[in-house]
Amino acid sequence: MIKKQNLPSKICIICERPFTWRKKWEKVWNEVKYCSKKCKKIKVRKIENN
Ligand SMILES: [Zn+2]
Repeated sequence: MIKKQNLPSKICIICERPFTWRKKWEKVWNEVKYCSKKCKKIKVRKIENN
């Protein structure tokens, strides 16, 4: 059993808020940088504007 408190967490590079490991990220956790799709979109938009 995995306790919720023991889940890894990261800080979103866009909104700078901590977010916690989720099942959907189990295979890509090392690559996850955003807390949500919303933040990912913001990042993409920034790149496009450059
Ligand atoms: Zn975020």
